[in-house]
Amino acid sequence: MSEEVKKAVCVWCKGECGVLVHVKDGRLIKAVEDPDWPRKVYPRTRACPRLKAAKEWFYHPERVNFPLKRAAERGENKWQRMSWTEAFDEIAERIQKIKDAFGGEAIVHTQGTSYREEYPLRARFFSQLGGSPTYAGASNICFMPRSTMANAIVGMFSHYSVGPKSKCIVLLGAEPLNARPINAQVIRDAKKRGTKLIVIDPRFTRSASLADTWLQLRPGTDCALLLGMIYVIIEEGLYDKDFVEKWCHGFDQLRKHVKRYTPEEVEKITLVSSEKLREAARIYAGNRPGAILEGVATEQSQNAGEILQARWILAGLTGNIDVEGGEELTGPHPTIISCREVEPGIRFSPEQQGKQIASDRFRLLSWQGQRIITENMKKVWGKTTGVPSVSHGPSMYRTILTGKPYPIRGVITMASNPMVTQPDTKLIYKALKSLDLYVVKDFWMTPSAQLADYVLPSSSWLERPILWDFCGYDRYMVSGEAAVPQTVPGEYEHKTDFDFWRELGLRLGQGDYWPWKDLEEYYDARLAPTGLKHKEYVYTVRCEHKKPGYKKYERTGFATPTGKVELYSTVLEKLDYPPLPSFKEPTESKVSNPDLAREYPLTLITGGRTREFYHSEWRQIDSVRSRHPDPLLQIHPETAAALDISEGDWVWIETRRGRVRQKATLFDGMDPSIVHAEHGWWLPELPGEEPWLHGVWEVNINVVIDDNPDICNSITGAWPLKTALCKVYKVKKY
Ligand code: SF4
Repeated sequence: MSEEVKKAVCVWCKGECGVLVHVKDGRLIKAVEDPDWPRKVYPRTRACPRLKAAKEWFYHPERVNFPLKRAAERGENKWQRMSWTEAFDEIAERIQKIKDAFGGEAIVHTQGTSYREEYPLRARFFSQLGGSPTYAGASNICFMPRSTMANAIVGMFSHYSVGPKSKCIVLLGAEPLNARPINAQVIRDAKKRGTKLIVIDPRFTRSASLADTWLQLRPGTDCALLLGMIYVIIEEGLYDKDFVEKWCHGFDQLRKHVKRYTPEEVEKITLVSSEKLREAARIYAGNRPGAILEGVATEQSQNAGEILQARWILAGLTGNIDVEGGEELTGPHPTIISCREVEPGIRFSPEQQGKQIASDRFRLLSWQGQRIITENMKKVWGKTTGVPSVSHGPSMYRTILTGKPYPIRGVITMASNPMVTQPDTKLIYKALKSLDLYVVKDFWMTPSAQLADYVLPSSSWLERPILWDFCGYDRYMVSGEAAVPQTVPGEYEHKTDFDFWRELGLRLGQGDYWPWKDLEEYYDARLAPTGLKHKEYVYTVRCEHKKPGYKKYERTGFATPTGKVELYSTVLEKLDYPPLPSFKEPTESKVSNPDLAREYPLTLITGGRTREFYHSEWRQIDSVRSRHPDPLLQIHPETAAALDISEGDWVWIETRRGRVRQKATLFDGMDPSIVHAEHGWWLPELPGEEPWLHGVWEVNINVVIDDNPDICNSITGAWPLKTALCKVYKVKKY
């Protein structure tokens, strides 16, 4: 058979690159850049190490290809192969047993990047199970806080809304060159046109090298910095008076509230000079339209909720909302049925919703916040989008251990690796080991999978159709819809998440609730209003680039309780939070804890992206790993010299929670008091059985990070990944 070339969109990271998938005799030959894809990215798709390794990934000998059942004690890495039918039967039976003994809420779900399988399907399964509204993953520190806060304050999220008409771009804890190639290209183009660029980051990134001004702040003080900018914009009268008067709620309260954040006071907190702060505020307010692109760093802070709130207040004050080149509010797709409409995630009874772990504590992302937001969205947009509510991961793992407020005895994990991606690894380990049932569905035998009772093989994005519903937020997809065909026939026994939930559902009496026989048929149902089937849609539409229009609020108002941009948030007020943001000193800093800082004098920030890896993935792919073989700790040359550390030395990174090792790399683009450790590291080449667990205790920085709910951000539940105190010293013998 001759070689076929199929158009697709790569979802191995958030690059969203158009690709051509070459297939011959049902086998993947290669995946390459699609020259006709309208969205240009930088660095180019063809240079992406992951895409180049597509075939290596797909046919990797260590990929999980068949359902496996534990054949010895947990953690002994002994497995026996089973059929899917046996796996579904056994797992369904064990779920039923747990439900009968402890209630449906005793089984919960954790999910990772998911490669675009639809989030609400899990809610469909669990709501029908009469079960748990508890889902936890990295959502408290990735995407959910920023989109939810936008929904609360302006009634919709503008998804990375920098564009050709932007006159000012603010990168707030973001480095698109590593994390969002599409934005990196837009920023490069914009710079050539003279667009102003402000970079707010403790580290001198490559984007910072292009910036008009780089605000090198002390880690964890972003909120104070933004409040200082708000102060300058108000006090110097730089705000959009007409927009504020007509379309903002709570200006007077805000003005009064920020009085204490003078640039001079903010300088003491952030270490950014008052002159630089004033300059940045003037650049941002004076070059409209402007857009702020926030990175996950904003969400991984003890001030996460307040940072994001202040970021949207800035956008509101400057009238940068729903204008071309500003924060463009795309809204949900007008025709396609969103996955939230299929499964709104609110089918749980009020009693069951109330059982969502920590929903009384971290209320914005829980069902409580989502209910308010959903009602507002529907009034203006006619429908809702976004991820259904999430629970608080750190609280959930503690509940597993304590049984309070109720027992959790079963966990289903999909495309997620909590032993690496969740802080306080020792606690996660104890929690997973204590379960009655742990099911992992993944591509690889990860450190987390090693602790499971069942490990089930997953279809990659190449092996299944996709109707990409990215919460209706992506301006490039108009409403976040892009359709991708199945490009490579499924091999071995990989299954979609849809099949997994449906098959379990059928065995647990949910037959009426799963009318579609497969994912394709489910997508056909979502596309029904377009008159196209998924197979037709992928080749006729593929992805949409229509503009939704601007200043829509003049007709409809904003999708908030007041119909305005809420500088003073009535949503937060209703949830019993302060309606205006304030800065709080991180609990682990030289300022808040000088005694601890004497023993641990360096500030550890973690989580900066690399070109090679996507969070905890790709460590087993040789061609990728050979480019970046070891975990790296950035350390300032002066600090390294004082500690007798040279480039390439293995060093211990120790906090009061323990120590792990990474390799030192000298970097003078940050204050000497800071070190930056890579996240997501494990070593697939080391044995899977305990005590090794693929090196998870050795190089995984989350071993030394704290996520005690008491120190998490009270609004979003974020755990601090940027402000741990540590010491660093050379590994003498290992
Ligand atoms: S940057 Fe690479 S991995 Fe990410 S979407 Fe593009 S091709 Fe795929």
